Amino acid sequence: MSARPEPRPGVLKIDAYVPGKSKAAGVAKIHKLSSNETPLGPSPKAIEALRTFDHLEHYPDGTATQLREAIAAKYGLDPHRIICGSGSDELLSLITSTYVGPGDEGLFTEHGFLVYRIAVLAAGGVPVVAEEKNYRADVDAILAKVTPRTKIVFLANPNNPTGTYLPFDEVKRLHAGLPSHVVLVLDAAYAEYVRRNDYEAGLELVATAENVVMTRTFSKIYGLANLRIGWMVAPAHIIDAVNRIRGPFNVNGPAIAAGVAAIQDEAHIAKAIEHNETWLAWLTRELEALGLKVTPSVGNFLLIHFPQEEGRTAKDADAFLTSRGLILRRIEAYGLPHALRLTIGDEEANRLVVSTLREFLGKGDHA
Ligand SMILES: *Cc1c(COP(=O)(O)O)cnc(C)c1O
Repeated sequence: MSARPEPRPGVLKIDAYVPGKSKAAGVAKIHKLSSNETPLGPSPKAIEALRTFDHLEHYPDGTATQLREAIAAKYGLDPHRIICGSGSDELLSLITSTYVGPGDEGLFTEHGFLVYRIAVLAAGGVPVVAEEKNYRADVDAILAKVTPRTKIVFLANPNNPTGTYLPFDEVKRLHAGLPSHVVLVLDAAYAEYVRRNDYEAGLELVATAENVVMTRTFSKIYGLANLRIGWMVAPAHIIDAVNRIRGPFNVNGPAIAAGVAAIQDEAHIAKAIEHNETWLAWLTRELEALGLKVTPSVGNFLLIHFPQEEGRTAKDADAFLTSRGLILRRIEAYGLPHALRLTIGDEEANRLVVSTLREFLGKGDHA
């Protein structure tokens, strides 16, 4: 007998999620480019909705009706097939604990989002990892890892931190290859940013299959990360099951009000998309011109690979950038010790990243 309470098996195997840094000692101006937040901030209408929110003494609407209806109207969905959450992270955990129990397997890709592993271990399940090809999810490798114990498969599309994506044909091939009792979670946190004809977030698949769930977030293009709002759309039977374990007031009133205002502000979203298109392309070009390898991204961030020579590593680059107030994300925890993830920032930050890296690489004199 233990002398003190012991966590369930699996819990202590979890490496707690470490958020991106937001501070650099002794630097006057910080550019936080470590958590894929938008440099444009939220819609002014969302800020106004927060400012005028009243009655904090009242419990929120436990099913976030207004927000579900606003989301449904935007995407042509049935509001009854939507659940809102305290960030999509909460929904990823809820879906996992609904379908994964001790010994069950949860499958995701080599450089997939860290929350999947945490959610599977927290539910007592076994995380199973499928290799990627060229930093991209590989449908055949995922299908090869499916066993009779597999209960859930997570696909971030586009993926964080790699920025790569699977065309919708490949997503459909993945779904077709999975046993029908396996839940396929399409995490489309960055869907709004993608400008590719062969990409679809997958709403069509959610609508027609019995085992596909999509999660979305207000934390990225909508600029509301601090309010913690996510949503999922799923078949009715999954919605019913997840609602049984969801906390009754998991999304707060100010978040609901701001989310409704944000999703209706099409002009603000268009501005964010345009900003990203311009600077994603510019940064990719400029960083490649410095001789760095950059994985082509469709999101609002870039995976930058550094040489493994002394003085020029990702770790060295991170220290140099941080000393200049540029905070990127180190991603050893994602199995990528030789790369940094850069969030697309405002013009000043983007230009500063390139000039600082030019200096770091010692190309300042003869560039
Ligand atoms: C940022 C991110 C999320 C969103 O998290 P929230 O909890 O909604 O803030 C989900 N999935 C991926 C892959 C992400 O990068």
